[in-house]
Amino acid sequence: MTDRRTTRLIDFHCHLDLYPDHAAAVAQRERERVFTLTVTTTPKAFPRNKELADRTKYVRAALGLHPQLVADRAEELSVWKEYLPTTRYVGEVGLDAGRRFYGSFDRQKAVFAEILSACATAGDKILSVHSVRCAKVVLDMIEARLPIGTGRVVLHWFTGSAAEARRAAEMGCYFSINAAMMANDRSVKIVGSLPKDRILTETDGPFTHQELTDRASADVMPARDSLANLFGMEREGMDSLLIDNLKALLS
Ligand SMILES: [Zn+2]
Repeated sequence: MTDRRTTRLIDFHCHLDLYPDHAAAVAQRERERVFTLTVTTTPKAFPRNKELADRTKYVRAALGLHPQLVADRAEELSVWKEYLPTTRYVGEVGLDAGRRFYGSFDRQKAVFAEILSACATAGDKILSVHSVRCAKVVLDMIEARLPIGTGRVVLHWFTGSAAEARRAAEMGCYFSINAAMMANDRSVKIVGSLPKDRILTETDGPFTHQELTDRASADVMPARDSLANLFGMEREGMDSLLIDNLKALLS
């Protein structure tokens, strides 16, 4: 049952271009057959990410403009728009209302609003969304600008309340869950309340608080194992549930 050829793990949010060797990190994901969404923090990084991902079966590159960089890079929104037609995947995008980034919150909202509207107009985009300390605002904006049927959202490292999680699920959002979330009691409670068919795994590598290993699949396993444990499922069952969720998201 643990045949490596049939095991498929998922890392739906990581930053392979920030690993010490970008090309090697992509190659490793491909070799280990880990379905990977590698997000970018600036649109200028996208072409190289896409070039490497396009040679693989298991790695996809997402076009991002990270909210933590908006203070300095808001003008790159034009570059982001230029590349949008070339990809189905968008991220990392969203809002960050944490202390360090709150100064740019209004600009972040302006940029995120344009990103959501551009995705709705283009249609069929899949977004990996950051929502630190502002889940409500992020959900309000998604509801207003990317209505159900115009695109799909995966909330990355969601830290909102249980009520906000419920609302997000009702809006059709998915959630990518990492090991750090599963080490936090409050977060585990919320994850346990999510509809099981909306869950994916992620590492957020290399920014994760977990120790990364030299095997991509080993890096995803702690999140997968904690989810299996939380839902009282066998690992194999959890793996097929996650793959079914990924297929539904991409369908
Ligand atoms: Zn990230």
